Amino acid sequence: MCYSIPGKVVEIKNNIVSIEYFDSVKRARNDFEKLELGDYVYAQGGFVISKITAKEALKILEVWKELFKELDKQDLQLSQTGSTLTSKANHIRHKTIGNSCCVHGILEISNFCRNNCHYCGIRKDNKSIERYRMSDEKILASVDRAANEFGFKALVLQSGEDPDLINDVFADLIATIRNRFPVLIFLSIGEFPLKLYQKFYKAGARGVLLRFETSNPNIYAKSRPGFKLETRLKLISELKRIGYALITGSILGLPDASVEDHLNDIKCALSLNPEMYSFGPLIPAPTTPFENTKSPNPEMIIEHLARTRMMKEDSNIVVTTALETLDPKARKKALLSGANSLMLNVTPEKYKKLYSIYPKKYGYDKDLKIQIDETINLLHELGRAPTDLSL
Ligand code: SAH
Repeated sequence: MCYSIPGKVVEIKNNIVSIEYFDSVKRARNDFEKLELGDYVYAQGGFVISKITAKEALKILEVWKELFKELDKQDLQLSQTGSTLTSKANHIRHKTIGNSCCVHGILEISNFCRNNCHYCGIRKDNKSIERYRMSDEKILASVDRAANEFGFKALVLQSGEDPDLINDVFADLIATIRNRFPVLIFLSIGEFPLKLYQKFYKAGARGVLLRFETSNPNIYAKSRPGFKLETRLKLISELKRIGYALITGSILGLPDASVEDHLNDIKCALSLNPEMYSFGPLIPAPTTPFENTKSPNPEMIIEHLARTRMMKEDSNIVVTTALETLDPKARKKALLSGANSLMLNVTPEKYKKLYSIYPKKYGYDKDLKIQIDETINLLHELGRAPTDLSL
């Protein structure tokens, strides 16, 4: 979002460029721009997003110069305190990846779904919700607002598994978004044939958010009737092989999941070598078979994030909306326990409430502008800077 700064290209090796932000250098993939040494670019999620003029860049960097040093100092100070698991994880985060923190936007484009996942409020058999599918025009207008009005540099397009939206024609929409707006496109659309995903990649999508939901095949079968964990894991690996940046992880607290299962979830995620880890609690959704399951304790989720940081020191870990829903204070705690990334919901008000995978999703009743201000204040308080997370 507006929380991002341009950097200067200081090295180019094929499609990998090194970008300098004050005194740190990050690497990013450049699949979209013609670049020369000395150019100024915005990068996000390890990808160059757009080029900007030196004049414009220097103006922005001048404003950031002092603040940048202050943020660094603040992060260093906060990461040196405490000896608990979570504060150790925060220390490791600071030591390995510094104070970069990215904020992605999430746009929920359809709540139609052909599946009946036992945890999910937009499952096919839930006849009590109003369904919507955003038109291309509405999606483009929302991307425009997120990218140009609010400055988001990476957007996750999320939906139920909706073949009436996710088909060959969707590739044209991806290409239009990529041509018109300086954003990195992530897809969170469920399981579709590899060929279709290849088409979306060619059209300009570069990331996928696809969780394996649980690493326990029995719990998986009970949570997603008719589907196999093996198939999901295979698809996730294949998407990574195509070149997609991967965000993956699981739901913690599914019925019968043990402490060991949760540890195995970290191991399973590690084996997929994702660009970002996403672990969040189950939030029981009304009218679903899991509606009476109790949500896990937010502290357990935060410790899970800390453990992930310990097991993969240089990872990127997102604070999930589900965790923020469980405890609004969890965002700050998670960022001080190893996490280094946030997602804000940029779905238009009208649809936001209808994408009810679980009720009262964090931010469902809050204006985006207010959420952005709160986020920036928190990131300043914690000493986090908007440099790219790097490859
Ligand atoms: N159709 C896409 C996107 C689903 S929504 C897909 O299948 O990947 C994105 C994620 O929300 C899901 O992958 C799941 O991990 C999570 N989710 C769904 N219902 C939830 C609930 N009740 N509590 C917590 N997380 C949930």
